[in-house]
Amino acid sequence: MMQLGAMQDWKLRVTHLIDHAAREHATREIVSRWADGSESRTNWAAIRHDAMRMAQKLRRIGIAPGERVATLAMNHHRHLVTWYGAVGVGAVLHTINPRLFEDQLDYIVNHAEDRVLLFDKAFAPLVERMKPRWPSIETYICFDSNEPAEHFEEWIAGEDGLGEWADGDERDPCMLCYTSGTTGNPKGVLYEHRSTVLHAMTGMIPGVFGMDARTVMMPIVPMFHAAAWGLPWSGAAAGARFVYSAVNDPAVLSELIERERVNTSAGVPTVWLSLLQHYDKTGTDIPASLKTVVCGGSAMPRAMIERLMKSGIRVAHAWGMTETSPIGTTGAETWNWDNLSFDEQISVKAMQGRVPFGVEVRCVDLGDPEQVLPRDGITAGALQVRGPWIIKRYFKAEADATDPNQWFDTGDVGVIHPDGTLQLTDRTKDVIKSGGEWISSVELENAAIGFPGVAEAAAIGIAHPRWDERPLLIVVKKTDAEVCEDALRAFLGERVAKWWLPDAVAFVDQIPHTATGKISKKDLREQFRDYRWDA
Ligand code: ADP
Repeated sequence: MMQLGAMQDWKLRVTHLIDHAAREHATREIVSRWADGSESRTNWAAIRHDAMRMAQKLRRIGIAPGERVATLAMNHHRHLVTWYGAVGVGAVLHTINPRLFEDQLDYIVNHAEDRVLLFDKAFAPLVERMKPRWPSIETYICFDSNEPAEHFEEWIAGEDGLGEWADGDERDPCMLCYTSGTTGNPKGVLYEHRSTVLHAMTGMIPGVFGMDARTVMMPIVPMFHAAAWGLPWSGAAAGARFVYSAVNDPAVLSELIERERVNTSAGVPTVWLSLLQHYDKTGTDIPASLKTVVCGGSAMPRAMIERLMKSGIRVAHAWGMTETSPIGTTGAETWNWDNLSFDEQISVKAMQGRVPFGVEVRCVDLGDPEQVLPRDGITAGALQVRGPWIIKRYFKAEADATDPNQWFDTGDVGVIHPDGTLQLTDRTKDVIKSGGEWISSVELENAAIGFPGVAEAAAIGIAHPRWDERPLLIVVKKTDAEVCEDALRAFLGERVAKWWLPDAVAFVDQIPHTATGKISKKDLREQFRDYRWDA
């Protein structure tokens, strides 16, 4: 029988990350700016010490490996301590998105069977309202106040920080995140130690977050969204300095970027939009220290990319989802990057980028999933993905014979270019089927947004007796702006195929959004359920 190789057993467990940070980058600072304006400064050695104290406390109150410890909190160092403390005792960290609707919060806490909840005082009213609906939670701890629950620092004060991390298998679970669920109930994604460590190592590399000991990272992505893009894990491996803010006010963020000399940041496009608006309004500019901006979660508008690049910032437009831990594709440059014109570079960055090692992507035919599509930059299909940090099945879902190494259906629609660049064109549920062909709702929306006076636009398919579906464009006008439907259609006619042109434009006061700020097509379709073309 063939023998195994002869290297050491060193399990890929998350606790190695914080041990490494405390040993090799002990004094590297973690700065937190709290909602009340106060600030705290700690470092990786102290984060580890506090996390160990928290693990000891969790063990003392009887939290067993695999049980869920939840947080409802913004970005700050005590939240970071909790990530390592919960995982360190072998429990599963469950980060809850406070922007979810109350019925969703009810569902996920009960589905996760959370036993402990640590929360920010800002969410105390929400916690008080939800308490009767959360019978599984026995212990409530407040991060920044001693009411309405015990203060975090007092809670761990009696522990000495000299314990041991829980041991176990590298395939043990360590973290649970729910997707907001554009259809049905939210679904839980259960990350494991191994997937998390591999993902954290990828997070450090150039082309992804490119972090090392010189990195001063401001993670604007909330710690409750899509595993905070893995930054709390990869930042420890890299020994990065972190600058956290518990509020997303652009004035606060820009002051911190400037004062703390932040050189790298990560967040969704809306945050950058509000930062750029802030600079425009105040007549100031992006601080020169900022060199890299990683942006994803929804498509980055071209104008935003151009503006950032003109300020000398390297833009990384990334695609991912909770189900992919979330690194999927990143804005890594191709070999010929330096030969491209500035305009070409912007066009490349407006797409969703390429995979790092460890992720495989492909597109399959929308009607026939057996048919894998060519990477020709033209043929759009359903995006599938696989790799060691991609979901196998949802939390508590029945195991399935096809589980091992299946391709995960992302629900996104895209095109893959010959150089591997992914370009998303839609979501499977949102593509508009007209006369047997597909119309990209996203492309229609992006084109419409470029028309003066249009603040927001969404395209949905409305049933049509002859064409199956035809596009209806729903538009919110900018305050006091007039938008002429014919002029808008003429404008679109220069940008999309003629048969893509919306058959009608509906003007509304607002477009519904999901808890993570994306347009809710589900609610829009519901709203326009009775819309008829002959009307
Ligand atoms: P939620 O729906 O709760 O926000 P996710 O963060 O997991 O959950 O959302 C993932 C989805 O967001 C992707 O499937 C994709 O549709 C969209 N998305 C993520 N990044 C991008 C991007 N760069 N461009 C366009 N869409 C994106």
